[in-house]
Amino acid sequence: MTAHPIPENADCWWLVCGKWRRLHAVPAEAFTRGQMRAAIDDVRPLLARAACGMRRRWWMPGLFSRLGRRRCTPCCTALGIPAGYGTPANEADLNQKDQTT
Ligand SMILES: [Zn+2]
Repeated sequence: MTAHPIPENADCWWLVCGKWRRLHAVPAEAFTRGQMRAAIDDVRPLLARAACGMRRRWWMPGLFSRLGRRRCTPCCTALGIPAGYGTPANEADLNQKDQTT
């Protein structure tokens, strides 16, 4: 249940910008974890280009956005992953729970 760039998230940050209520994939190398932490502490967005080509100021999504927002379809296409809801890592968590219960 994370928006951080881990393999389960296609090595991308899954972020939202102010206006578009979608989760977009920003490549891990766009900024460091330290930069992200500082941005969250200062409550300011980070400028980067997402996998779909949108250049915006991005925010770390809140918990409910990570769970429920729809992923940007062009971002998913660019990464070769299926479109869906929430971060890919979160979706994988849910699928694992489905299989064990
Ligand atoms: Zn996108």
